[in-house]
This record gives sequence, structure tokens and C-alpha cells, in this order.
Amino acid sequence: MKKQTKPPICPHCGKEMQKWATPQFNFSDGLGWGGPFLYVCFNDECPLYVEGWESMMEHYGQVASYRCMCDPDTGTIECLPVLAPNALKGDIIDEVKKAEEKARKEAEKKALENLRGYRELKDVNAILKVLLNKKELALVRKTAANYLGKLGDLKCIEPIHNHVFKDPDIQESVEHAIELIHETNFTKECPYCAEIIKARAKVCKHCNREL
Ligand SMILES: [Zn+2]
Ligand SMILES: [Zn+2]
Repeated sequence: MKKQTKPPICPHCGKEMQKWATPQFNFSDGLGWGGPFLYVCFNDECPLYVEGWESMMEHYGQVASYRCMCDPDTGTIECLPVLAPNALKGDIIDEVKKAEEKARKEAEKKALENLRGYRELKDVNAILKVLLNKKELALVRKTAANYLGKLGDLKCIEPIHNHVFKDPDIQESVEHAIELIHETNFTKECPYCAEIIKARAKVCKHCNREL
């Protein structure tokens, strides 16, 4: 038995097994499931599962059955008890992913709506806050950078100029926004002291160096 990197075939029915997210509550107490998921055969025609209902009733007088499961870390095949045909199915990882994706899309939509509101109000500080918030989604932060560029307020250059944006896409949007803000204000950055000066200045008024 060895580590399974792709879904194994159920030895009872020959169908491919599916990733099943193990219940979260067993993580903290250190009992139960070893990893974040197991492979489970969800084929309702799987002989182990079909015969399980009869065998459980016969031996234990209980309405229950088994699904074939495989531990991805060891490749060990075991039986996972189920009490109803749809039991466990809600936790198939694909479905978990879909739900997460849906929640992410909704959060993104809401955040973009808020941003549009700030833009209409020309609330530069609120937009800055979104851009600098590491927890915000990348698309939302990029949009915030675009809006700052379009609003062209010089005071937002300082807080974003020296900020390190780990996402290169966000960084690029920020640099573009800074360029736009300078264009709007006919300004540039002094190459020596980094202060904001007039685009046409021949001498920097901050460091007195010739440009
Ligand atoms: Zn099976
Ligand atoms: Zn200077």
C-alpha cells in the first residue's frame, strides 16, 4: 500500500473513487481522520454498498451500509459506515469547492459595488483602504488601484508608493495608477529625493538638484 496521488479505483465495483472532505471537527481533538480528505466510492451500484444495507440489517438490525474508502496517505482500503443514501455526499470536495467559489464570487461582487460607490463619492481614503487591505481579493484591489489612478488625487501617491504589493498584478496596477496621477497633475517624482515635483521643473525644490 502506498500514497495515492490520484483517485483510486474501487476494488468492489471498478469505478473511480471521489475525493471526500473529512469532517472539520475531528481535526482539533487529534482523533479520527488523518488528512483533509479521503477517497470514497460514491457509486450507488457498488456491490459493497448495495449488499451493505442487507448485511447491516441482518446482523445488527440497523438501516445502514458501507461505502468503500481509501486513505490517500497509505492507500489502505476500508469501509466507511453510512446511514442514508445521501449521507456523506454533501462533502464531496468538488461540491465544497463549488460552494467556496460561489461565496468568493459574491464577496467580490459586493466589494466591487462598494468600490463604485466610493468612486462616485470621490472617497479616496476609502479606496486606499481597500487597496492596502491584504485580505481583499486581488481583482478588488486592482480595481481600487485603477480608480485611484482615474481620480488623480496626489495625496494617495505617498501611501501606495512605498507599499510592497506581493501580487505582481496589483503592483503593476498601482504603478500605472501612480503614472496616471502624475499625468493628471502635471507632476513627476524627483529621481534624487523621490519628492513630488512639477513635471517641467528644471531644479527640484526639495533637494535643489538639477534635473
Ligand atoms: Zn465501489
Ligand atoms: Zn529632489
